[in-house]
Amino acid sequence: MSVLVVGSTALDSIKTPYGENPRLLGGSASHAAVAASFFAPVKLVGIVGDDFPKRYVRLYRRHGIDLAGLQVAPGKTFHWAGEYEANMNNRRTLTTELGVFETFIPNLPEAHRQTPFVLLANIAPALQHHVLNQMRRPKFVVADTMDLWLNIALDDLLKLLRRVDALVLNDSEARQLTKEDNVIAAAKKIHRLGPKYVIVKKGEHGALLSSPTGMFISPAFPLNKVVDPTGAGDSFVGALMGYLAGRKGAPEAHLKRGMIYGSVVASFCCEGFGLTRTTTVTRAAIEQRARQLKKMVQF
Ligand code: AMP
Repeated sequence: MSVLVVGSTALDSIKTPYGENPRLLGGSASHAAVAASFFAPVKLVGIVGDDFPKRYVRLYRRHGIDLAGLQVAPGKTFHWAGEYEANMNNRRTLTTELGVFETFIPNLPEAHRQTPFVLLANIAPALQHHVLNQMRRPKFVVADTMDLWLNIALDDLLKLLRRVDALVLNDSEARQLTKEDNVIAAAKKIHRLGPKYVIVKKGEHGALLSSPTGMFISPAFPLNKVVDPTGAGDSFVGALMGYLAGRKGAPEAHLKRGMIYGSVVASFCCEGFGLTRTTTVTRAAIEQRARQLKKMVQF
């Protein structure tokens, strides 16, 4: 089955201790769609300006991504610039130029409205609502978010939480949302806001799933060199959704394995700037890393 991915489609200018790269393909939807494409057919919904490089359109196409929902508008593509400190955990946003994103309304082509798996990647919660309003009985809906929306669009986000099966967020965002210092307590509180499944990402320390049947912990794949972690979270949730869409039966039954694949694809993402490493990966390389990860947690 296929996955609908809606989110930001951006040009990212990224500076890390390993170098500086301007105007790479980025955005939550780009990272998530490429990650999902290793496991299932993907439909991308987003907006770019008329400055969007053709080579990035070709890149999406190489991954078999359906671009019927990608709007091209006169003006500039969303541009984000960020800089990382030596520890790679602390990131500073230097620039956010919305460009054509300012007027984005994610109206879906008719053919997209029946897609069973819906990934509401990081984007304003009002737009995530707008997408859900157009969907016909999706099978599984996952939302991602960021601190910005907790600060400026909390009401919309809280309403959204009642409409999704799963919420994926960082540990710091979980704390901010619930005012709980302890992430386990925070996850419990988030269930009461709506989502049956809560996935808390903890960067290099992996991710935690809280569900009605208990908890599951997925480690991050240990890397000895992180070149650029931008998009790791989006890659994690994209691969997770792609994996769920590629499996038969109830999606809930595949969440744990899906998180392992999420960790694996996120690790590839961190090994290069932007999407440069992820786009060279094969399904076989993903399977190999998943086996390595499995060995590391067996005892
Ligand atoms: P992550 O590293 O997983 O948190 O995601 C990084 C991606 O988020 C980058 O590719 C940016 O283009 C994108 N991004 C940054 N700010 C925003 C924003 N305000 N809305 C949507 N996407 C954003």
